[in-house]
Amino acid sequence: MQVPYGQYINKKNNRMKVIDSIRKAKTPLFTFELLPPKKGGKIDNLYQTVNDLVEFEPSYINVTYHQHEIEYYERGDGLMEKKVVQKRPGTISISSALYNKFKIPVVPHLICGGFTKEETEDALIDLNFLGFNNILALRGDPVSGQKRFKPEPGGHVHANELVSQIVQMNRGQYLNPNLKNTTASDFCVGVAGYPEKHYESPNMETDIYWLKKKVEAGADYIVTQMFFDNAKYFHFVEKCREAGIQVPIIPGLKPISTFKDIDMIPRAFYIDIPNELCQEVGKCKTREQVRQVGVEWTAQQAMELKRYGVPALHFFTLSQSDNIRKIAARVF
Ligand code: FAD
Repeated sequence: MQVPYGQYINKKNNRMKVIDSIRKAKTPLFTFELLPPKKGGKIDNLYQTVNDLVEFEPSYINVTYHQHEIEYYERGDGLMEKKVVQKRPGTISISSALYNKFKIPVVPHLICGGFTKEETEDALIDLNFLGFNNILALRGDPVSGQKRFKPEPGGHVHANELVSQIVQMNRGQYLNPNLKNTTASDFCVGVAGYPEKHYESPNMETDIYWLKKKVEAGADYIVTQMFFDNAKYFHFVEKCREAGIQVPIIPGLKPISTFKDIDMIPRAFYIDIPNELCQEVGKCKTREQVRQVGVEWTAQQAMELKRYGVPALHFFTLSQSDNIRKIAARVF
């Protein structure tokens, strides 16, 4: 039964760290990721998504961070004007608003792209003052239109450096070594891992080498990129363990939801979609049928991962709940 809007009070403390939830849990946790609405959009849609999923008792909710993008506008005099825009602003305020409304711990994402180290420090201070004890630390993708990731001058080049800065603040070390009586934060840090390797890496071994650096810098757990073949996840976990990475590795799952996903996902995320799944989508006549195929496939994946004993099942919702509800009802 769906909980009436706004009536769910979970009373979980925002200070509850992801790693502690994992350690306490006897069965895999249910967790999901939301995207801030496009600029001008409503936060109510996110509230509705969470409200639709609260009955499955999510342990925490992630909120993505979106770097600025470059857009060109016609000025009217024949010339184009370049503008820097952030299409999905509001990660920190949305995270805070979600926690205040639902009392479910929120994990805001923080990226290297677009931030100097000073700005990162200020964002960490905001998060600490707002009562967050969790962060997913990422590098971020290249800005649209650019081929390679370009850090801000004076910003971090890779996620391991961001992890180090967070860990330093956890020790009360700020960028200015002359600051006295500093407040130590207490962030639990997650990082990203890639069962089909990150697209910039020459091979899986190199990618896992750098993943280990993030863990050595202080990351408490890993969340994976989406995958549609569990064998890829099992193999990745095995390789990580062989390399000496001991932290929990949380699988990330996304149900196929549109015809376009079959073309877009491999291009955007450099991951394979199994032939059987492509064929099932190919038989569909309507968008609803595609969503149902996505639900069936992801539910099967999730149930196998649950039997395998994963620490949590993390769903990329794209802020839509109908398909995740159907999956969660079968798995949790
Ligand atoms: P890194 O760990 O820096 O790795 C990037 C590449 O560099 C890899 O090939 C790695 O092998 C290599 N590498 C790593 N460290 C070093 C080093 N020190 N020296 C040399 N090479 C190195 N993007 C967003 O913009 N916002 C989000 O909210 C967001 N959320 C995400 C959530 C999840 C679960 C995942 C899996 C990805 C998310 N992303 C997000 C996308 C992510 O930012 C991109 O995949 C990005 O290209 C890489 O980020 P990373 O943190 O893995 O980078």
